[in-house]
Amino acid sequence: MSETRKRVVAVDGPAGAGKSTVSKIVAARLEYTYIDTGAMYRAVALKVLESKLPLTEEAIIDAARTVEIDQQSVDGVTKTFLDGRDVSTEIRTPEVSKIVSPVAKVGFVRQRLTELQRKMAARGGVLMDGRDIGTVVLPTADVKIFLTASVEERARRRFEELKAKGFDVTLEEIEKDIATRDKIDSEREIAPLKQADDAILLDTTGLSIEEVTAAIIKLI
Ligand code: C5P
Repeated sequence: MSETRKRVVAVDGPAGAGKSTVSKIVAARLEYTYIDTGAMYRAVALKVLESKLPLTEEAIIDAARTVEIDQQSVDGVTKTFLDGRDVSTEIRTPEVSKIVSPVAKVGFVRQRLTELQRKMAARGGVLMDGRDIGTVVLPTADVKIFLTASVEERARRRFEELKAKGFDVTLEEIEKDIATRDKIDSEREIAPLKQADDAILLDTTGLSIEEVTAAIIKLI
């Protein structure tokens, strides 16, 4: 693939649509850098959680002001670092999932992370996934994809993923968490979750990971 020009690819969509699963595979096959912006918002949320302060705008801004976030590929696996510490596992807990959308609503947090994400994408050959990549972070991306799936299927996928990791969760809890996050993410004032006008919609309900991967590679 290295003989073709490397593009900038934006993948957006609601929670559990399969964005990170397929984005990782596509990026590996095309030798692109994969950037998981959800993990960056999760890292800020973890910092707030660890501060033990109540979830106020002040505490969130305080955490975001000093936070250092980095993403690196270690043996082909994308790792997220918070203030120099590998937090790739901690940011996936249900506790972090519960507070990440309120944290991601805060303008100062978005401003800081958007700036960082644009810097990370500047070299091209990048596949970035999130909620506002095609609309706000990288509006001039070469390829924009909006991945979605029915809420039942998205909840089931997330449930199986968390069960496999040993978390004690129920399908109902996950469905509720996903629906709440989607609502906050879509209704927030700054950079809400929405399909960019020039994005291609891909409904992954009933499709296998390989089918979605192949469809995205064809689009790129
Ligand atoms: O992608 P993931 O589900 O890990 O994202 C966690 C949360 O981070 C989302 O529910 C959303 O609140 C926030 N987020 C965001 N903008 C992005 C990526 C994620 O607001 N570009």
